[in-house]
Amino acid sequence: MNRYYSLSTYLRTRFGERVQKIPLDAGFSCPNRDGTISRNGCIFCNPNGSGTGLGSKGLSLKEQYLFWQEKFSKKYKAKLFLAYLQSYTNTYGPLKKIEEILEQLKNLPGLVGLCLGTRPDCLDNDKLNLLASYPFQEIWLDLGLQSSNNRTLELINRGHKAEDFTRAATLAHKMGIKTCAHIIAGLPRETLEDFLETIDFLNKLPISGIKIHNLYICKDTPLAKLWRTGVYKPLTMDEYILWLERALFSLRPDIVIHRLNGDPAPNELLAPDWASQKHVILKKIKQSLVDKNLWQGKSSHPDTIPPWFEGSREDGKLGS
Ligand code: SF4
Repeated sequence: MNRYYSLSTYLRTRFGERVQKIPLDAGFSCPNRDGTISRNGCIFCNPNGSGTGLGSKGLSLKEQYLFWQEKFSKKYKAKLFLAYLQSYTNTYGPLKKIEEILEQLKNLPGLVGLCLGTRPDCLDNDKLNLLASYPFQEIWLDLGLQSSNNRTLELINRGHKAEDFTRAATLAHKMGIKTCAHIIAGLPRETLEDFLETIDFLNKLPISGIKIHNLYICKDTPLAKLWRTGVYKPLTMDEYILWLERALFSLRPDIVIHRLNGDPAPNELLAPDWASQKHVILKKIKQSLVDKNLWQGKSSHPDTIPPWFEGSREDGKLGS
């Protein structure tokens, strides 16, 4: 049952079968950690980044890809894959380095596209032109915004402003590259209204996807200190479900949902406990949308059923 436009639905429609993401670590750094902007990183960022571990074990990109491809082919019977350069900032550095990485990826078996995690202040014309020149069927920029509120961005030490995101997403769109905006619910001092302002901000931009995370607290982060001293309190699961409901209700129906929850490493999570229960979170949000007869984009299109909608209408309500 679909009441939001999930990435798996988008990919099945586009390719006619399952397409599986493969996480890769290309060994990039981050200007918010190496001292260029700061050495502290974003307040929620674990110094280990979001790596898969294989890059730090010395495996080449091809070796990492083949390792995961074999696993996912057996587990999900997947034949098509997206390479996901996930760790740190994958467009940070000289053009030559980015080109070398794209060269290593371009002929991998079964690879139909690329997702690149990066920061909006680490993209320019040359980098986007280079990306657009590669013959992948899909290129996504996983672009961190977190909040459209510049005061929040300063508070969480992002080191860029919302305007940087607007510039990067607009430039990428002009070059035919899709942007998946990453945002976080429950940032320090943010209310539900602030979070919905970020949704409104994104609705006005030429983005194609969104990844929404609940803020959770990892070991060895500045946020952990704020949490321990009682300065920061994370959302409860019920609050997060409510925030998601409201966000989906307001979000444009053409924006593909890449994720609706964070995915903390079990040995790094301090709080909240529920952040590790990603299947429970998804089940609850899906049920809540059914119970309240809501779907993505309903606020602006209450009488139109989106093409990706699946559900029964037995109770006579539109889309219920
Ligand atoms: S931009 Fe990403 S990698 Fe860099 S400090 Fe922030 S969360 Fe960590």
